[in-house]
Amino acid sequence: MDSRVAIVTGASRGIGRAVAVVLAQGGGRVVVNYQGRSADAEETARLVRAAGGEALVVQADVSLEADAKRLVDAALAAWGRVDILVNNAGITRDTLILRMKDEDWDKVVAVNLKGAFHMIRAVSRSMMKQRHGRIVNVTSVVGLTGNAGQANYAAAKAGLVGLTKSAARELASRNITVNAVAPGYIDTDMTRALGPEAADRLLPQIPLGRLGTAEDVAYAVRFLTSDGAAYITGQVIQVDGGMVM
Ligand code: NAP
Repeated sequence: MDSRVAIVTGASRGIGRAVAVVLAQGGGRVVVNYQGRSADAEETARLVRAAGGEALVVQADVSLEADAKRLVDAALAAWGRVDILVNNAGITRDTLILRMKDEDWDKVVAVNLKGAFHMIRAVSRSMMKQRHGRIVNVTSVVGLTGNAGQANYAAAKAGLVGLTKSAARELASRNITVNAVAPGYIDTDMTRALGPEAADRLLPQIPLGRLGTAEDVAYAVRFLTSDGAAYITGQVIQVDGGMVM
């Protein structure tokens, strides 16, 4: 039985939901975080239980420090420990730099980057005490390549790589690994919002010839949280069908 306790931010839909379900297989206990869509989060919890795990649904906006702390405290109150943190919550507000408003910049950085910082800080003390932890941040290949129309998002995701490596160095002596996965073009609400023409345009750039699934990303996250990945820290694994290499 794998009864480890995981917090997955942004687990109501898409990649976060797939990560929650995959970590639940074999008995994992999963805190299913969401921001606004409670019915979707409850559906994730149902899938977690169907997969053999336990679920606790907690609303929290990770861009708010108090919410991030409350999210970690909820896990500790329910199960007394946190073994795995997956910083998956993310948003986009795409537009060209010339048209980008400060609030579009600030909001995207606040959720994608500062949210992960809030969560890592909130979870660190208990992970350090137990001398074990696995943290996985969900960045993006766009953080490695840049993307026209996504300066805010690409900057936040590139920042997440720096945060990953810094946290990896700070926490390694306590047996806590910190890694990132960088998805390419994954079929979720986030990319569906771009319309079918975006998929048609990007498909020729993907050597494996298909869009990624949320599960493709979830299996990479699960590997990085596994005992088999104990000697891997500060790394970024791309899950992109070969799109960026
Ligand atoms: P999605 O389907 O749009 O889901 C986003 C999730 O984040 C939802 O669960 C949402 O909660 C949650 N969320 C948003 N703001 C939040 C906040 N302030 N606090 C807590 N939760 C919040 O996105 P996705 O495609 O699965 O993406 C998941 C992650 O992968 C993101 O970090 C994204 O940047 C990254 N990524 C995605 C792709 C892709 O192709 N899809 C590629 C590269 C990287 P509600 O449902 O309650 O709104």
